Amino acid sequence: MSAAEKHVHDLVGIGFGPSNLALAIALREHHTQTGESIDTVFLERQPAFGWHRGMLLEGTTMQVSFLKDLVTMRNPTSEFSFLSYLRDRGRLADFINHKTMFPSREEFHDYLEWAAAPFAGQVEYGSEVVAVTPVQVDGRVEYLDVVARRDAASGELTTRRTRNLVIATGLEPFLPEGTVDDERVWHSSELLFRLPGLRDPRRLVVVGAGQSAAEVTEHLHGAFPGAEVCAVFGKYGYVPADDSSFANRVFDPQAVDHFFTAPPRVKEMLMGYHASTNYSVVDLDLIDELYRRHYQEKVRGVERLRIMSASRLTEVVAGAGGLRAVVEFLPTGERTALDADVVVYATGYRPGDPLTLLGAAGEHCRRLPGGGLRIERDYRIAVADSMGCGLYVQGATEHTHGLTSTLLSATAVRVGEITRSLAGRLRADRRPYVLTR
Ligand SMILES: Cc1cc2nc3c(=O)[nH]c(=O)nc-3n(C[C@H](O)[C@H](O)[C@H](O)COP(=O)(O)OP(=O)(O)OC[C@H]3O[C@@H](n4cnc5c(N)ncnc54)[C@H](O)[C@@H]3O)c2cc1C
Repeated sequence: MSAAEKHVHDLVGIGFGPSNLALAIALREHHTQTGESIDTVFLERQPAFGWHRGMLLEGTTMQVSFLKDLVTMRNPTSEFSFLSYLRDRGRLADFINHKTMFPSREEFHDYLEWAAAPFAGQVEYGSEVVAVTPVQVDGRVEYLDVVARRDAASGELTTRRTRNLVIATGLEPFLPEGTVDDERVWHSSELLFRLPGLRDPRRLVVVGAGQSAAEVTEHLHGAFPGAEVCAVFGKYGYVPADDSSFANRVFDPQAVDHFFTAPPRVKEMLMGYHASTNYSVVDLDLIDELYRRHYQEKVRGVERLRIMSASRLTEVVAGAGGLRAVVEFLPTGERTALDADVVVYATGYRPGDPLTLLGAAGEHCRRLPGGGLRIERDYRIAVADSMGCGLYVQGATEHTHGLTSTLLSATAVRVGEITRSLAGRLRADRRPYVLTR
């Protein structure tokens, strides 16, 4: 066992996307403000920092204000703000002249990479966590051994021991049941990794009616002027995302308090009312742009952008020369067979289930009557007395903390709450703080 494996951390973070990056910043700022240092290491499966790289499409923009960056809602004077980044890059005045609250995803990715760089010593990239093993002392779990695969080829494993864990593994791409991802059938999350292998396609099919589906449709239509792009979805038309001011309050920090304390039927009601702020909806500008292209093609009499709405894909069969996709028009049942080079499923994401990673440690976790994990206001999973470690979750808390859980809006505030909770627990342990690695 190496020295790193014997060492006991205060906190191990699984995943180093925006949520745990924001937490790393909050922990560092906590140290600056209080002198308390929380010994933390993050394990991230990607070889370097990356935020949905497969969908960093040219021209796509953020769906939250830049003021909802990693820090500002918690600490507007933080050196890790988007404005500090702009100043550092020498673009502050240029950005202001740009008059937008919604930077491009490319620029926001650059901001996130800039913010992640100073934490490189605290992140073990290329480490995919595959198991969490509880370590019992006198019948109580006192430590967790977090097991990560360092090298997929050799299967080399390393272990990091900790008293607290924060799981922030993000969303998992969702494919309809029975769909198998292969070289011609992709999930939208892989788009930019797959496209370089595509040569002179004749027809591309995109399934889905949400923001990613509309973005993929627009991108393919622009990138392959010789190809027909068929957008297949069940709605009659793309539906606009509700980003109006009052509705946006559902992402406010205070809305998390309200949602958390609301009875289950009110939670369900609020989710239903405001699903259109996030789920299966598209920015109005993008809907307008797609319609403009679609109409312009009608004027010219050459229609490359085919909107196959009120429809579903019933069959995709691979042949020697490509795919045969069958689309059913739902009102009449009429079926259309399409020969296609590729089918892109932009069918969304699901939050990963923390219990999958927790394994035997999950047996100490409490559940809600509906079966979901019981998660406390401080994002800690409620556990039995037999669990002495803190298990925090970022992301998979929509059922307890509301719509903002999987998004960036409340990240800055949430990580402040986790930091306070964690520091309080460590203080209560009366163990001396050790220096951050
Ligand atoms: C294309 C796209 C655009 C989006 N745009 C916006 C937007 O504009 N505004 C907004 O609010 N939200 C947006 N979202 C929602 C998105 O969930 C958040 O932006 C953000 O990614 C959440 O951060 P996270 O750190 O919780 O999750 P992620 O960003 O998904 O990061 C999770 C990290 O955990 C790592 N990981 C997963 N499993 C393991 C494991 N077993 N071991 C080690 N590491 C692991 C992953 O590699 C990843 O780096 C978008 C989502 C997508 C897909």
